[in-house]
This record gives sequence, C-alpha cells and structure tokens, in this order.
Amino acid sequence: MAATQAEIDRLATLALPPQRLLIGSTRPEGEAAPVAVLSPIDGRALTTLAAASEADVARATSAARATFDAGVWSRAAPATRKAVLHRLADLIEKHALELAVLGVRDNGTEISMALKAEPGSAAGTFRYYAEALDKVYGEIAPTADNILALIHRDPVGVVGAIVPWNFPLMIGAWKIAPALAAGNSVVLKPAETASLTLIRLAELALEAGLPPGVLNVVTGPGAVTGQALALSMEVDVLAFTGSGATGRRLLQSAAQSNLKRCYLELGGKSPNIVFADAPDLAAAAKAAATAIFRNAGQVCVAGSRLLVQAEVAEEFTAALVAATEKMQPGNPLDLATQMGAINSAPQLAANLRFVTDAGAEGGRLMTGGAQVLQETGGWYMQPTVIADVAPHHRLFREEVFGPVLAVTPFADEAEALRLANATDFGLASGVWTANLSRAHRMVRGLRAGVVHVNTYGGADGTVPLGGVKQSGNGHDKSLHALDKYTDLKTAWISL
Ligand code: NAD
Repeated sequence: MAATQAEIDRLATLALPPQRLLIGSTRPEGEAAPVAVLSPIDGRALTTLAAASEADVARATSAARATFDAGVWSRAAPATRKAVLHRLADLIEKHALELAVLGVRDNGTEISMALKAEPGSAAGTFRYYAEALDKVYGEIAPTADNILALIHRDPVGVVGAIVPWNFPLMIGAWKIAPALAAGNSVVLKPAETASLTLIRLAELALEAGLPPGVLNVVTGPGAVTGQALALSMEVDVLAFTGSGATGRRLLQSAAQSNLKRCYLELGGKSPNIVFADAPDLAAAAKAAATAIFRNAGQVCVAGSRLLVQAEVAEEFTAALVAATEKMQPGNPLDLATQMGAINSAPQLAANLRFVTDAGAEGGRLMTGGAQVLQETGGWYMQPTVIADVAPHHRLFREEVFGPVLAVTPFADEAEALRLANATDFGLASGVWTANLSRAHRMVRGLRAGVVHVNTYGGADGTVPLGGVKQSGNGHDKSLHALDKYTDLKTAWISL
C-alpha cells in the first residue's frame, strides 16, 4: 500500500462518532456509562466507547447462539463461507490506510509498523483461513471390516474472543478468521484502549456478507464486559490474548460457569541469546534493538532479555546502545517514526517503575530510562537498556511490556540455556551463532513456543504462535489454529 504522509495526516483529523456495540444487526449504546477513548499520541479524547453490561453481553451471546443454531453460517456451504471471508479481506485491503490510521490514533503504534502488522496481516489471515476451510477433511478410522467409523470435525458453537491493545486487528484476526472459517459464531471483546479498528472490522464483515449475529462486538471494561463473557453459559470456547493475571481469571470464570475451553496466549520475557561466534555481531546488535523497541516494546514476543556471551558483552552492549539511541520515540503518525507511544498513562507509569526498581536492585542504566515528549500531552518513553541484570532481579523475571531491555552476561552454552529457561514464561527466543550444531542444541533446549536463529521476530501465517509454561497454551495461526475452533465427533456405524 502506498501511504502518503498527506493522506495519513488527513485521515488523522477525521472526527470519530461515539462507538457503539454490535449485537446481531443492532448497534446499541450499551447499558453502562460509556468510556472515554484517549489517544496516546496527545492524551486527548478521541471519542467514547460503549460499555456493555452483563445483560448486553448476554444479548450478544444469545445472538451468536441463535445464528449458530439457525445454521445461517455454521451450515453454509464452504464455498459460501470462503467467498465471504475473501470479500472481507478485500474490504480490509481497500480500507487499509483508514484502518491503520484509526488504530494508531487509538493505541499509539508507529504507523510504519501498523501498516504492515495490522490491516496487512489481518487481510492475509482472512485469506489464509478462507482458503483453508475447504481443504480440511474428516477422517475414516481403520476399524474392523464390519464397522465404518467416521471422525467429523464440527464447529464448537459460540466462540468468545478477548484480545489486547497491541496489534488489535492482527491478533483479533488470528482468532476471528479461523473461528469463522470453521463455522462458529463469535462474540468479540476488544481491549478498552484499542477497540476502534475491531469495531470497524465487524462493520466491514457485515458489508462482506457475513450474516448478522455471526460476529458480535461488545466493548467495555475487562472486569465487567470481559468477565461477563468469560462467565457466560453460552460461550463454548474462550480464545484469549493478554496478560497472565487476566488468563488466570478466565480459567476461574470457566470453572465457575460451564467449563468452557480456554485458549490463553499470554505474556513473555523472551531471551535473545548472542554467542561470541554470531555470524555478524554488528547486525545482531541492531536486531537486538529492534527486537525490543519496535512498538515501544509492546510486543508479546519482544526480545526483552538480552543474554550475551561475556567475552563480547562490552563491545556488543556498546553497539546495542548506539543502535538504541537512534530509535527515539516520535509522533506515531509520522511515517519516519521508528518507535511510537506508550498505550496508556498507567502503562507508562508501570514501565518507569521497572527502571527505578532495576536501579535499586543493582542494574546499570546504559541509556534511556525517562519519559519524554511531555509537551505533546501523550505518553512516550525513551528506549532503555539496563545492564548487569541478575536472575533474581524483577526486570529479569517479570514482563514489562514496554521499551526496557535487560542485559545479562553468560559464560558458556550451558549457562546461556539455564538463564534463558529461568523464568516462568516460554513464548519466544532468539539465538545468534554461526555454529549449526549449537543452534540446533539451543532449539532443542529452549522452552519456548518459537526460537529465532540469526534473526529475531520473523513469522508469517503458515507457522503457529503460542507459548509454553506461563506464556499459555493453544496456538494462533497456521492450520493448527483450526483445532481450537472444531470439536471431533465419532460416528461408529455397524455395517
Ligand atoms: P490484559 O490481560 O490486561 O487485557 C487483555 C484483554 O482482557 C482486554 O480486552 C481486557 O479488557 C480483558 N480483560 C481484562 N480483565 C478481564 C477479566 N477480568 N475478565 C475478562 N476479560 C478481561 O492485557 P493487555 O494489557 O491488554 O495486553 C498486554 C498483555 O498481552 C501482555 O502480557 C502481552 O504479553 C500479552 N500478549 C500476548 C500475545 C501472545 O500472542 N502470546 C500477544 C499480544 C499480547
């Protein structure tokens, strides 16, 4: 997409109407008091967001259940579902710049990244599952001759999707697209600080021909709207991306209600491990900076712990600091900006607390550490590198979800692996080495959902993304994601 700065600037001035819920074909205001939407760019009010009450959520889940039972989508021919999902992808592409700018105004991601990661990725995800849905077959089991055993794959019914504020369109599509492709109805709960693009996506889905009630959107506070969805007796599967604390609450809500299956994509504290024999240490240093600082560190797979072999630690850290200092935050709507805003004032305060705590525990501030651009009224933080971070430090163990990188030296491969695995998380990781055997040994030894080798952060829709340990269960993307949204059913037929 050729995005010009002038067009971005024009779209950024458009007034936004109060945002409503989408339940079936209706657009109710929501029973609870609307929530103000503040832009991280300048702290100003963009619009208001409807807050769905428990009763609103019940209406949304009933609408989803009714459409599922009626079969308007769940039993529609695969070719019909495929055509609608492709039309939705077309519409996302047609409105890509509008969606990207809307999202940036809402959540503060730098536009250069949002253009690729948000509409671009979401359109691709809808196309991927549109194409996949008529290529997944049932099975015939190898039974005795007098039996025919068929294994069907049925849609699960009503899927509740609860998503976070970083990359709402991309992550929302990772859940909505496979769920719809498999024939389910969906109730989507976006994050309070990043709902706008997903509301627009649902409007585009109706325009694409998705029957009303198949995709419903309930916005509002997690503790009210999200919790009501998690406690719903109508929701068969909860697909969640967000923090571990919320993930725990969802499991409790599932236990208190109908034992719905919960797929949790949670946080990370991903190690990026640089060995002295890395093929290009200068390139690795630049990549280590982008691995943590793009989207101001608000990336689940961010390489937030740099483990560097002691013999090159000083030289490498100096190169890293130089690369970091070139990535200062700026206006997220400027195409040249490499690092945007922090999503909210509380998130900025939490990030800054990590810096203070790291200093108190013996971490050495190498660069950054402060709030900047206060004059804008928005929330911005310098990219921050802290060295001498030890395994017992808070910064080593807890996810910041902001632009703060912890640097820890290691002596040898065994220590690198031990340090890498020494957190409760297991989402992503990176290994930089020219030694092929070492690379494979590390891939085997790392407890993580993804291991990048001599790169960091690359992926596409063909590969699953998910974590181990307290980074969650279940995977988004690839054909494997369809497993979350389908139930197996056996037909055992006596011949
Ligand atoms: P969060 O857990 O605060 O919120 C996520 C969603 O849950 C929001 O929609 C929120 O409204 C809702 N929610 C909050 N409390 C709830 C409750 N009690 N019941 C039901 N729903 C509730 O997370 P966040 O701050 O929006 O996102 C940041 C987190 O997401 C980080 O930990 C990050 O690592 C993680 N994340 C993980 C992945 C991944 O693929 N593993 C991707 C992106 C982000």
